[in-house]
Amino acid sequence: MPSDRSWSEIDLDSFAANIENLKKLFNPDTHFMQIVKADAYGLGAFEIAQEAIKCGCSYLGVANTDEGMLLRYQGINIPILILSPALETEISRIWEYNLEPAVSSLDFALELNRFYAGKSEQCHVHLNIDSGMGRSGIPITQAKDIINRIRKLSNINIKGIFSHYAASENDPEFTSFQKQQFKELIAELTWKPEFIHIANSSGVVTAPADFTNLVRLGLLSYGVYPDQTLRQEVHLEPVMTFKTRISFLNSTEPGQSIGYNRTFMAERKTDYAILPVGYADGYDFLLSNRGVVQIGDQICPILGKISMDMTAVDVTDVPSVNVGDEVILLGKGKTEIRVENLAALYSGSAYELLCQTGRRAKRYYRRQGSIVSDSPLLRRDFISHDYSDDKLNLIIEASIEQRLQSKSIANLVYQEILERLFTEKDRKIHYRENFNHIVEFNYTSDNKFSEFHEVNTNLTFNKVLENDFFYVVCACSEKTLEKYFLHPQVEYRWLFDDNCMLNEDLFRITQVSINGIELKHKLVVENDAVEIRCWHPELADLIGKKVHYSIGTRTYYPRNSHQMAIYLIEMTKGINLEFHYHDLFSKVEAVPIFSGKNRYPMLIEEKGKIKIHSEENEWIFPNSGVVFVY
Ligand SMILES: *Cc1c(COP(=O)(O)O)cnc(C)c1O
Repeated sequence: MPSDRSWSEIDLDSFAANIENLKKLFNPDTHFMQIVKADAYGLGAFEIAQEAIKCGCSYLGVANTDEGMLLRYQGINIPILILSPALETEISRIWEYNLEPAVSSLDFALELNRFYAGKSEQCHVHLNIDSGMGRSGIPITQAKDIINRIRKLSNINIKGIFSHYAASENDPEFTSFQKQQFKELIAELTWKPEFIHIANSSGVVTAPADFTNLVRLGLLSYGVYPDQTLRQEVHLEPVMTFKTRISFLNSTEPGQSIGYNRTFMAERKTDYAILPVGYADGYDFLLSNRGVVQIGDQICPILGKISMDMTAVDVTDVPSVNVGDEVILLGKGKTEIRVENLAALYSGSAYELLCQTGRRAKRYYRRQGSIVSDSPLLRRDFISHDYSDDKLNLIIEASIEQRLQSKSIANLVYQEILERLFTEKDRKIHYRENFNHIVEFNYTSDNKFSEFHEVNTNLTFNKVLENDFFYVVCACSEKTLEKYFLHPQVEYRWLFDDNCMLNEDLFRITQVSINGIELKHKLVVENDAVEIRCWHPELADLIGKKVHYSIGTRTYYPRNSHQMAIYLIEMTKGINLEFHYHDLFSKVEAVPIFSGKNRYPMLIEEKGKIKIHSEENEWIFPNSGVVFVY
């Protein structure tokens, strides 16, 4: 049971059932495009797209490039049509994200043709023909001529030709006129594109068109009837239910008013409940003094004006009400609270009411009655087409900050963005895998270092090799070492004790290899740091391949220190960090500061050792680390 003040529940089974019922109305060979513009009318484009694909959908329709890009990020691979006219500035992203624009003019086709000139693929487009909608589209009178000219453009593939009904839900005469116009145009073409389409979801019910082979399903698939007459033709269940809880109970005497501007005057002693939703949640202001909600089995009228964040409802006749009781504002429940019926109360649009409600609410997806997933607010803002390291760091930082507040946002960032960025896409961002770092503290036998513990470190990991050399660096101050943080050729950094003079005895490599090839190495003391260059001629052949690094060092650590820290400064997948202290210290504690899918990795203590461990395929964000305190 959601703990939210208000939330929407999306019943995926009802959606699938609606699709099945609509499918009975068109030819089995006809494809269907699921319209998921405006975040699938407020139900969540990604989840609806996934479910529609399961139901056999072969196309998605969106409003603009951003909506298409977001679906691509989320891993949706089927064709996506951008329904409304695109701007010239969107073309490069249309190409990059493999989207298909609707074309409403020769000029736009020419722009597309120019842009795609140097590309290996043609631009797949659907030509939009205006058969009477009077919005976008090529005027039907000029269509033949313009289609023929666009056909000659070598970088354009006309994959579809479509038109759009102006009033298929309640004007059969005009709908039939539009259908006839479009049919005649198609008949006159000497060739046929892959897809011909005209029907929106109401059109599927009211105007079957056997010369087409694709339909575009929107509102009806979400279980909302734009006209009552459609009710007899097809059975549909509301998919979204918008709910809230009573947050406060109040009562008023006859003659007193409720809410802003005193538009409701009580005629009797009235008990009323305050609901924590208002027009900011998309619960339309025009429902003031008109709308109804359902509490238990009872229908309760709205009293007074709807505020930005609060609404009063009459509960005088509800037998028992309590703060915290669930309230249905919209959707499944008594028929009065179906979207279309509420919209009718203020002569509003069912489309608008559906897509605006719940804009501030979290969505829960149900299957067979149980919640199967949820989607947080604010999911839109993660789109980026700048993958510079700076930008990525900002995203990662923001996500770490967010994860402290919202687990679902953190999971979203983790799964949908990081997995895609680092694994599925061929981006030039390198990360380490199987990061295994063992630090072993020992007594030292060397009198020169009696103030120190001797430390042996062993580091192994897998990573794509970028150069035929790399550096291992040791510095005496954090400031100096920091300079090496952004240096891509440095694979290992060690911070030595402050105020000491670095020399070759203090830090040295005991072994260094890549894929078992022992590397040559040379040490120079420079810039207050020991820089060890590691290289081998055979590495040149391994550049661009994932290789196994192994780096061993011997160094010293001041005995008067009581802690030692290991930081990860790159994206890392799977870690094992071990601190071996034998019997040097009686008690060691590990303080991990981690950000990744799990906030804390596993901590394993054994005699003389402490280990920090993650699953092998778990991403760990940069700037994670662990401090061993002893
Ligand atoms: C929004 C839209 C649809 C879907 O219409 P519904 O009435 O919701 O089924 C279909 N085609 C185009 C071009 C649209 O813009």
